[in-house]
Amino acid sequence: MDPVWLLVLLPVAATSGWLVAAYDRTPKKQQAHIPDRFFEGLNYLLNDQPDEALRIFLDAIEMDSGTIEMHMAIGNMFRQRGEVDRATRIHENIVKRSDLDNDLRSQALFELAQDYYKAGLYDRAENLFQELRKIKSVKVRAGQLLLQIYDQEREWEKAIEVSIELNSHSDSDYSHTIAHLYCEVAESNIRTGNYAQAEANIALAFRYDQKCIRGVLQSGRLAAMHSNHNNAIAIWRSLEYLAPEYLGEVVAHIENSYKTLGDLESLRQFLESALEKNTDSRIINCLAELTREQQGEEASQELMLKLVRKYPTLGGVLQVIASQSRAIGSTGQEKDYQLLASLISQVVQTGHHYSCRNCGFQSNSLHWQCPGCKAWGAMQKPQVPDLKAVHQ
Ligand SMILES: [Zn+2]
Repeated sequence: MDPVWLLVLLPVAATSGWLVAAYDRTPKKQQAHIPDRFFEGLNYLLNDQPDEALRIFLDAIEMDSGTIEMHMAIGNMFRQRGEVDRATRIHENIVKRSDLDNDLRSQALFELAQDYYKAGLYDRAENLFQELRKIKSVKVRAGQLLLQIYDQEREWEKAIEVSIELNSHSDSDYSHTIAHLYCEVAESNIRTGNYAQAEANIALAFRYDQKCIRGVLQSGRLAAMHSNHNNAIAIWRSLEYLAPEYLGEVVAHIENSYKTLGDLESLRQFLESALEKNTDSRIINCLAELTREQQGEEASQELMLKLVRKYPTLGGVLQVIASQSRAIGSTGQEKDYQLLASLISQVVQTGHHYSCRNCGFQSNSLHWQCPGCKAWGAMQKPQVPDLKAVHQ
């Protein structure tokens, strides 16, 4: 074997990392028969003449069967450089060959499907990945990319089917993803008024994730929609021990249900209990409002001062200032309080209340699927009091 060609390949391999690996995978008996035309193509590549290189490689694939894997790697390198059209032409040319063994054909089709995917030709990519799902050597990788397509296209039912298969055939655990996908379907069921189907899908979500937070929120909403407020409150309040960091998401719903039942005392007990576990400004605001309604401005102001000392959050400070502004009435000074309240309110509203534990993406609203890394259920609300963050 003449190793000289490796010296030629090194600069290209350094950027792609694939060529040498492809050569290693080539059967030993074929490694010595790298045709001159292949080097010619590499030379064009090194001289930044990709069109010339492509012409040579396309011809070479026609002629030589011993370097198919290396041609495949060249195609992958084009795709990685963003030259998807060139990658596609090389991979299509390989697939056309009638003498490919089954493994090489599957691999070439898999590369071609990735070219289509990267080019945004989702229909073509989907069709190929669907075929490749049936082939053991590429089954899992094809399923993973197919799932990405369905995820992007918001085709939740198809995504569920692929995820369930991946859950049983890959080493990764997809149960959390499957639960979220069922919740997506349930959400569209709720939107279209198909409540029975929504309940069935939520039940399936719980089958894959017994602590499915989104399922808890949806179940409570469905119970409230059926005017079963006691049941709805019990479901939502399960978050107190299941996932207290999400209590802020349900406080308005719980308030509404308790008020519908006329049970303000239980609402107060809930809010006080929730504050022990979560200092979300929505809980503080609700308690301030309730105290004002029941006991007047002074009692509300006193309570807020007590709470701010105990839980130093900007939301709490905002309530104290707003309350102070109302208490002094129209003395002229209230404008200063109002200005201060407005400034703090802007800080509270523009603050990043949620962050993704997977990629760090920050947002001021809850996304069940992270817009950054597409992970499901990874957005969390930090429990750190926000005043401390502001002082740093
Ligand atoms: Zn993320």
